[in-house]
Amino acid sequence: MTTLPVFERVALIGLGLIGSSIAHAARRGGLAGEIVGYARSAETRETAARLGIVDRVEDSASGAVAGADCVILCIPVGAIGTVTAEIADALAPGAILSDVGSVKASVIAQAQPHLRADVQLIPAHPVAGTEQSGPESGFAELFDRRWCILTPLPENDPEAVAKLRRFWEGLGSMVDVMDAAHHDRVLAVTSHVPHLIAYSIVGTASDLESVAESEVVKYSASGFRDFTRIAASDPTMWRDVFLHNKEATLEVLGRVTEDLFALQRAIRWGDGDALFERFTETRAIRRGIVEAGQDTASPNFGREKPPQK
Ligand code: NAP
Repeated sequence: MTTLPVFERVALIGLGLIGSSIAHAARRGGLAGEIVGYARSAETRETAARLGIVDRVEDSASGAVAGADCVILCIPVGAIGTVTAEIADALAPGAILSDVGSVKASVIAQAQPHLRADVQLIPAHPVAGTEQSGPESGFAELFDRRWCILTPLPENDPEAVAKLRRFWEGLGSMVDVMDAAHHDRVLAVTSHVPHLIAYSIVGTASDLESVAESEVVKYSASGFRDFTRIAASDPTMWRDVFLHNKEATLEVLGRVTEDLFALQRAIRWGDGDALFERFTETRAIRRGIVEAGQDTASPNFGREKPPQK
């Protein structure tokens, strides 16, 4: 059975990890009649053209969005306002304008003032990623069995929202819908603060005078290594996430700090029961994530064994 494309022309603005993965997965699913791409630097545009990531690479964002029935901004959250202002006049009447940003309320606040009423702004966030970036890091399977959260606006045409949902399902995702403020609170807990903690602990380890850097690297398999994977994530993207999800991040961080103090106190007073109870609870959360198919139960996160020397 052949399926019809969901959109006639999809324009991807930004061709890094997420933009190029959307292109690969949309091709795999036959979801777009044509995929047009644009990236800010000539270098990325050349790489995208050379690798054939999209059908056509344009030299301007406005040129790329012209005639597209779906435009997806795959750029850092802090660039949404400027880029939306740049493309607004070139958007086709009735076009869907979406994005993939890790923060949602700020995307709406930045984009909406530039848009005509005949454009459907439907923000989205695929909860899938890696610590890699750039056009060569994308792959078609990135969104398979991962959630994509849509945060539509009350004034959206339900048919347009349904189309975008079909597109993300075609990319391999499971789709959830929630309002932008709630999204930002949930993601502060599940993604933003964990990244901040990883950035902090990896920075602290490299600053400690009592432990040599060579020792930190040598014995990293004991836990530190898993934080370093997260702390290797793109600095521009994550700077923007924290600047644009300030309140929710600070609120969750306050709670984390309190809980850390409680653990610190339990260690100081030798309260083994408190430690044991907390660690038992957290183990159950891990089991829930594995049962929900969001991670592997294989030892060592399914990593292959390191090469034997
Ligand atoms: P990426 O691999 O670094 O790609 C970013 C793209 O945006 C590049 O094409 C870059 O252009 C372009 N760009 C950067 N700054 C720009 C600016 N000021 N104006 C216009 N374009 C600009 O990043 P990514 O991982 O794909 O992330 C893109 C978006 O996806 C972010 O909003 C992020 O929050 C969201 N997201 C990321 C992940 C993840 O795990 N990485 C997961 C879910 C959602 P050049 O190549 O020309 O520099």
